[in-house]
Amino acid sequence: MNTQGKVWFVGAGPGDPDLITVKGRDLIARADAILFAGSLVQTAATQWASEQCVIKDSKDMTLTDITDWLITHAQPNKTVIRLQTGDPSLYGALIEMVQPLDAAGIEVEVVAGVSSAMAAMACAVESLTLPEITQTVILTRVAGRTPMPEGESLAELAQHHTTLCLYLSITLLSTVQRDLKAAGWADDAPVLVVHKATWGDEQQIIRGTLANIRELCRAAKINSQAMIVVSPTLGARHWKTLAKSKLYAPDFSHRFRRAETKTIEKKS
Ligand code: SAH
Repeated sequence: MNTQGKVWFVGAGPGDPDLITVKGRDLIARADAILFAGSLVQTAATQWASEQCVIKDSKDMTLTDITDWLITHAQPNKTVIRLQTGDPSLYGALIEMVQPLDAAGIEVEVVAGVSSAMAAMACAVESLTLPEITQTVILTRVAGRTPMPEGESLAELAQHHTTLCLYLSITLLSTVQRDLKAAGWADDAPVLVVHKATWGDEQQIIRGTLANIRELCRAAKINSQAMIVVSPTLGARHWKTLAKSKLYAPDFSHRFRRAETKTIEKKS
């Protein structure tokens, strides 16, 4: 294989430049060329690039334009970065971009990023999982131009009554409401919408119910860049009774701590 330069797919995180990983930031600092997803990644993420670094916004480019650009810049000993919003492996067309690079004999590496689902929950001081409430998270979307594969409609996935993080779905809230109702979620089920999580003053946190979330988002003029979370864990910060995590219970032993009283051994 004729190995040329290397292309790094780097997760830029949800918006706040401080939420890129140290590894991602160090790569930006030594990059020769950076192609960033302009509509979503704040230009600030490129603030660590050197003066000689070629920096381009990909907002007007097709997938072929993008891979051609990456291939052209991946000359021997060059570090090329494709900077993506959140984590590159979620709704990021990663594999479509990797295949032409593989075909051109260019080495590829991926650096994980903070996905917007995690960022939204952090902004709202909410937990994706809670003991005895739900221990499962489903990252999904409703069908837009991309259809959902069989068995993955929201009405089907929502039947588990676990935490649901919905990407790319803010303009389809009526579908979200319909599908969740079909799956047995109550009108007063809590719903969280975070618009531009971690984008400073532009961030908006909307808390509502399945019945009123659409009205609330319309009133707040939110119709893009929003994470929808539907979960039985929402609002737990204010609950009077809460099942405690076994990990910190005094009677629970694990690899690093001996139980104070009777022992329940954790199988790792
Ligand atoms: N790879 C990205 C997702 C890209 S798809 C990630 O891991 O987050 C784009 C969708 O991500 C948007 O429609 C929105 O649902 C969500 N999103 C991206 N950035 C966001 C942010 N800062 N706040 C809220 N949602 C965001």
